[in-house]
Parts: sequence; structure tokens; C-alpha cells
Amino acid sequence: MKRPEEIFNFAETADACVKCGKCIPVCTIHNVNPDEVTSPRGFIDLLGAYQKGYLELDRNAKDIFESCFLCTNCVDVCPKALPTDMVIEQVRADLAEIYGIAWYKRAFFYLLRHRTLMDMLFKMGYVFQTCGFKIHAEKSSMEPRFTLPVIKKDRLLPSMGKTSFLNSYPEQTHNGGKRKVAIFIGCLANYNYTSIGDSLMKILKALDIDVMIPKKQLCCGAPAYFTGDFDTVRHNAQKNIRYFESFIDDVEAIIIPEATCSAMIKVDYEHFFHDDPEYKARATALKGKIFMATEWLEQHTHLRTLLSSKPKKALHVTYHDPCHARKMQGIYQEPRRLIAQNYTIKEMSDPNACCGFGGVTMQTEKFHFAQAAGRPKAAMIEQSGASVVAAECSACRMQITNSLFEAEVNAHFKNPIELIAEALEG
Ligand code: SF4
Ligand code: SF4
Repeated sequence: MKRPEEIFNFAETADACVKCGKCIPVCTIHNVNPDEVTSPRGFIDLLGAYQKGYLELDRNAKDIFESCFLCTNCVDVCPKALPTDMVIEQVRADLAEIYGIAWYKRAFFYLLRHRTLMDMLFKMGYVFQTCGFKIHAEKSSMEPRFTLPVIKKDRLLPSMGKTSFLNSYPEQTHNGGKRKVAIFIGCLANYNYTSIGDSLMKILKALDIDVMIPKKQLCCGAPAYFTGDFDTVRHNAQKNIRYFESFIDDVEAIIIPEATCSAMIKVDYEHFFHDDPEYKARATALKGKIFMATEWLEQHTHLRTLLSSKPKKALHVTYHDPCHARKMQGIYQEPRRLIAQNYTIKEMSDPNACCGFGGVTMQTEKFHFAQAAGRPKAAMIEQSGASVVAAECSACRMQITNSLFEAEVNAHFKNPIELIAEALEG
């Protein structure tokens, strides 16, 4: 395990790279843009040169460092465990300081800091979404009717739910009183894919576990972290940490049906606060109670046994491993073990390959890269023969749903939590 001062010393990281090239074949951006500068080895080399004063962070360098998907495939295979993703996250903050952050990202990150404003905007969005978008209800998606400033036509985006998850339930739900967990829901599941939270509530009821829905939770900060807006990350992370501390002793766990939010709170908060000992320690103290939802349900409840008593469904499911679940948190068996009780799992050829979501910049300015990275994933889903693709991540859902739409593949997406709730209904 590397110490933060080693990780964030770009020159030391660059010097530690043995140039073995093991990271190149697995690199998501290198596979769609085969150039040494857009490879883990190239990124690290350039960062070393930047710290030593040989490289200016000009627009070309900005373009290069913004093209990493932060998928961590390279970290997984690197014999020196070099944290390419983390050094790139760090240099993006330097880039944000030099070039600022595009107006639409600033507006989005501002909303992520203010729940009430976000609630109002999504409510308005729900009412007016049909004016600008064609709704694909079965995919919880919408298709722009015309090209918008940063969003092109002919793609699917998540549609907006009528009422957010956080505003749909009371703060406390009593299901028996013996055990209790809190839910951290994530923004996409809160406003767009709201049936994930509904499904999680049904599962916890079936298990007689009380639920707390902490109403003041803020976005985990992941979209801002990946874009270099560290002020927003600090604001949201500190507020969430202080808020979680106020109820953490009353619950067994905070469960999160989202790989990215879970990885952000459990793993990245500690990294982010590497130069703030107080908040680093507070983030560390909380992490023992932060779990991905399937992880906690599979390891800490009798859900698997309960599911095994329910009928098997004639549905073939293929499971995609979100980068933030398998590579960052080691979670890949738990969702499969739960799904396998009632569905037939048909593995795709490379479930661990990144779907190509990549973050806000990749989904807007560099969308052509996201599209290119999404094509092989859509093809392997089709080849698996499954009619449903599952992943415990709504960013993957947004990207994969669009990739399937573009490739005209007739499979649809479900979070494993939704599949499990449906299986419990029999
Ligand atoms: S994080 Fe992913 S896209 Fe970025 S350098 Fe590593 S493998 Fe390539
Ligand atoms: S796998 Fe690691 S050591 Fe090898 S070239 Fe890539 S970054 Fe360098």
C-alpha cells in the first residue's frame, strides 16, 4: 500500500514505472485512441515531466489528461501498483485552476451542493421533459428531440422521476425493530432511476430490517472529483462526513446501491483528504460501516436463503462489473450469488471491461470516446444471449443503455437490487 505522499509525488510515480507495458492492452482510452500519450505509461511519464518542470500544462496537455476514463484497469494489472487514476484526478485540479471549469459543469456542481435547488430543478424537469425529449419509459430514458448546447441528438439520457427517492419515504421506516441500516442513494438513483431505492426498501422490509433515510445527504462528490472541482468535493465530503457521524452509532451500516458513490465515500474520501489529517481520520473511522448494497445484503443477512425459497424465473441475466465495484472494492461475487438464486446468469466475454462512462467530460465534450468504448460492451452483451444486463451502478446504466440503443441490441438494464426485489415478489 502506497503512502499518499508517494502517490501524489508525480515524479516519484513516473520514476517507479518500469515501462513494462502491461497496462497498455487493458487501457480503455488506449483501446479507442491508440497513442502512447493516451496510455497509463504515457500519462505517468507526462506527469513526471510536468512536476520536473519540463512540461507546461497547455491545452494539449489538458486534452490528454482529460481523456482518461479513470477506470483503474491499469492499476489492477500494474506490477508496481501505480495509481494512475489518482494522479490524473490530482492533475485535473491543477488544470481546473489554470483553465477554470466550463460553465455547464460549474452549474451542475453548484446544484450538487444544494439539495433543495436540485429538487426544484428536477421537479420542473419532470414536468417539462417531454417538450425537449422523447421518453423511452421502458428504459427509464429520454432522447433529445434536437441538439442541445452540450448534448447531441440521437442518444439516450436518464429520464426524470416524478418524485425523488429521498422525498418519497419518511426518515424512519419500522420493519420489526431488531436491526437497522441507513441508505445512501446516489443522485441518479434519487432523481432518475428511482425504482432502485423502491426495490431496496422492499428487500429490507422482507428481511425485517428497519430503514433510516438520511434526508440531508448530499451528492458524494464523485462527478466533481473526476473533473478536478476540489472545492465542491471538499464541501460535500465534509458535510456528508459530519452528517453521517451524527447517526452512525444508531445503524449497523450505510448501504449504497451504487458502486461509484460507495467507492467515493469508502475509498476516495480518504485519498482526497490525504493532506487534511482531521478529515482523513474521520473518513477512515466511518468506512467500516459503508457497504455496497449487495455486499452487505449477501454477507450480513439471510437474503440468499430467502431468495432460494422463491421460484426461478425464465430470464437470462448477464452481469457487468462496474470498475468502482470490482476493481476498487473487490465486489463481484456478492451480486452474482444473489442474482443466481432466481435467474440464469450468462457471463459475457469480459464482464470486467470498462463500459466507457468516464465522467462528465467524457459524456459531453469527449462523448465520441465514450461511444467508441461502449461499442465492444454492447457487442459482448448481445453475444451473451442474455435479455437483461445488470450492474450495481447507475453511471454504467446510463452508458450501457445508450450503447445498447446505438447498437440496436435488444437487451435492457436492471440494477441487481431491482432484480432481487422482483424475485422476492415471486
Ligand atoms: S484509468 Fe483506465 S483509461 Fe485511465 S489510464 Fe488507466 S486504464 Fe487507461
Ligand atoms: S504496468 Fe505499471 S509499471 Fe508497467 S508500464 Fe504500466 S504503469 Fe508502468
